[in-house]
Amino acid sequence: MSVDQLSQGRKEEMAEVSNTAKTPQGPIQAADGPRPYHCTPTLLAAQALPLLGHMHPPFIHIMDEIKEGLRYMFQTESPYTLMISGTGHAGMEAAVANLLEPGEKIIVGVNGIWGERVADLAGRYQGDVVQLKADAGKTFSVAELKAAVAQHKPAILFLVQGESSTGTHQALGDGLGEACRAAGTLLVVDTVASLGGVPLFADKWGVDAIYSGSQKCLSGPPGAAPFFMSQRAVDKLKGRKTKPATYNLDLNLIADYWGWFKPQRSYHHTGVVSTFYAMREALAIVGEEGLQAMWARHLAAHQLLWEGLGELGLEPYVADPKDRLVTVNTIKVPEGVDWAALSKDAMDTYAVEIAGGLGPSLGKVWRVGVMGFNARPMAVEQVLVAFRRGLVKQGWKQPAAAGKSEL
Ligand SMILES: *Cc1c(COP(=O)(O)O)cnc(C)c1O
Repeated sequence: MSVDQLSQGRKEEMAEVSNTAKTPQGPIQAADGPRPYHCTPTLLAAQALPLLGHMHPPFIHIMDEIKEGLRYMFQTESPYTLMISGTGHAGMEAAVANLLEPGEKIIVGVNGIWGERVADLAGRYQGDVVQLKADAGKTFSVAELKAAVAQHKPAILFLVQGESSTGTHQALGDGLGEACRAAGTLLVVDTVASLGGVPLFADKWGVDAIYSGSQKCLSGPPGAAPFFMSQRAVDKLKGRKTKPATYNLDLNLIADYWGWFKPQRSYHHTGVVSTFYAMREALAIVGEEGLQAMWARHLAAHQLLWEGLGELGLEPYVADPKDRLVTVNTIKVPEGVDWAALSKDAMDTYAVEIAGGLGPSLGKVWRVGVMGFNARPMAVEQVLVAFRRGLVKQGWKQPAAAGKSEL
């Protein structure tokens, strides 16, 4: 092959790269999509380090540091934290499969697709599922949750803190944990879209089990699910009459890989070594920034986003301001606007991802994530620019009632 041919091949290769990789890190802004756009750069570097053996003492040390970092993340003194090898769904399944025995009652708060999935999942593990429903875009009052717990005395009350399909934030304090305790109920919470973005206090609120994901507010690669259990939850796990119907996610076995009950480790599965490197780095970054500062940064980015959206005449899908989730923002698609065309234009022009709705909000909203590495003014401004251009392109005129200047 001549040098000319070589360089021609190189040019084609580069053309291919620039067609697919729009910016060095790929498109901006994950709403709640499956791809972890904008992974924190140092996490990518951590992931590229040489692989240690999954039972090798230096790797066990990394796992121990992860447990410690998670205790801070969850705001708990409980020794029972770990990463499930798998995405948020693996955390979800681990929580249900290990804490619910066949025939036991579980109340599932359903106000979007995540509650729906947990209701489905609990049925597969032969739970007696009671669905507590709220309209999409609404949350449950603590009073109604307490009343449902007192009435049914379920083994589990399951709630989603950040419903990313509709953009709602479920309140978990105000004595809900105590009410669950009094009824012999375990309080289990999905924080996949919210952990690190909004306040969470596992011990103070009396939460018994929590799972999350690595690729949302922790801005990591997908593949590890932060997980927590209270002493009460562990007592339930150890006292089960039946084995969990999943081997892969049996926490009695996974616990011995993470050293929950005794210092020596035993093999259950191969931990996702590179993803754990990235998670240890992510947790170190959280420690450096501090949770309070991290929550404040997310809130500020959310406020900046809504300031800009308001100026464009766009409105929130979630009616009650106290129910609005900081990390996943749902924006009403105005009449006469083609949401998909706007999203496509944002991607084609700016490599900015503006997700559409999911489940009950499909076709009604755009969803914009303000999460982790993207919860900063630059990323927010880029999204606003993309919205402005997309709306202008479609000739959309904001209602005069908004009282703002025309686009
Ligand atoms: C993304 C998400 C999940 C699922 O997480 P995966 O990592 O895709 O398995 C679960 N719950 C909520 C609230 C989410 O936003």
